[in-house]
Amino acid sequence: MSLAAAFAVPDVHQLLDDLVHRRVPDERGRFGPFGGAFVPESLVQALAHLTRGAQEALSDADFRAHLDQELQDAVGRPTPLTPAPNLGRELGLNVFLKREDLAHTGAHKINNALGQALLAKRLGARRVVAETGAGQHGVATAAACARVGLPCTVYMGAVDVERQAPNVARMRLLGADVVSVTTGEATLRAAIDEAMRAWVADPEDTYYLLGSALGPHPYPWLVREFQKVIGDEARAQVLDRTGALPDVVVACVGGGSNAIGLFHAFVPDSDVELVGVEAGGSAAGDAATLTRGRPGVLHGSYGPLLQGAHGQIHETHSVSAGLDYPGVGPEHALLQLTGRARYLAVDDEQALAALSLLCRTEGILPALESSHALAALPGIAAERPGATVVLGLSGRGDKDLPTLVPRVLGGGA
Ligand SMILES: *Cc1c(COP(=O)(O)O)cnc(C)c1O
Repeated sequence: MSLAAAFAVPDVHQLLDDLVHRRVPDERGRFGPFGGAFVPESLVQALAHLTRGAQEALSDADFRAHLDQELQDAVGRPTPLTPAPNLGRELGLNVFLKREDLAHTGAHKINNALGQALLAKRLGARRVVAETGAGQHGVATAAACARVGLPCTVYMGAVDVERQAPNVARMRLLGADVVSVTTGEATLRAAIDEAMRAWVADPEDTYYLLGSALGPHPYPWLVREFQKVIGDEARAQVLDRTGALPDVVVACVGGGSNAIGLFHAFVPDSDVELVGVEAGGSAAGDAATLTRGRPGVLHGSYGPLLQGAHGQIHETHSVSAGLDYPGVGPEHALLQLTGRARYLAVDDEQALAALSLLCRTEGILPALESSHALAALPGIAAERPGATVVLGLSGRGDKDLPTLVPRVLGGGA
């Protein structure tokens, strides 16, 4: 069944027009059929308050100027657009890397964490709560909250606390209180539930700083607004460098924040092909929601989900912890439905091979998440030899050494 049929969409052309002319989300937070806010009564008020406050902040020139200054001073923006001639020669492409790995804390997540921390301060919150899976969003949030001057509590599944000890230490050093969550599967999904619960219990004083372009409205929109700086910069940089728009823009998709941040500026450029890359995992399973999901509601948002025949959510599997989420942001679902972007899955082995290739050709150790985007390049080269490609290098790979040492260097290293 086609995605349009599965989601009972009457008019795909109208939806594409809405996307291109930036009429999504609508006032209910819907990206076409996707998104919305399917939440308990207790959260409705808090989400409405957040939506209003965020809209006001983002249309306030003083807030925007302060945010821009902080992105420059504390994050290190603009990040470079690095030509990758050796990689390009090997693949038969003209490749440019958008270097979010060079942002403070080593990934794009700080753009959103800092933006929302500044928003929390403006809205008068007295503390921030956040969820984290692998710990990357927790580290970015801890750093942003220290910078802004707000205490923060990070909820993390007990299984992840065990698996991601260095990031737990990093969060604690940066002043965050890390709470180990033992409910459910004790991973990211339970951590999100717990952070939402903490918010519902004290919506006046607490700000919930969500880490990707997902969850109930306004988060998918809000996170996109804080991440779109990636694509705004990249579009200007590639024009400056080559005098033309790229043929293809490619990024990895977990919840979808770095990809939507990079894609957003290019959505109206109909000649630019947008490619999102999900985690195809291994025989143990995957996290390829757009490739293999079916409609359902998770964490307040309607869209494709990895689920069984009776709607039970699947545990996801990927060599990259940051792509391990059974849902995906609603704007990606709409980009896919309208055909404006296409999504594919690459498996663990392909991502590891792509990581090694970038290390060897350009001297850059990418995050395993970003390596999924790199792994799509040979296929793109086969379809469009010589194409100019802008690739979102969402983060650096130092955090992945415990995985890489046995799997890439071999057991003895
Ligand atoms: C968290 C993470 C991702 C996945 O999250 P998105 O919201 O899909 O961007 C990708 N790359 C890196 C380096 C990450 O840390």
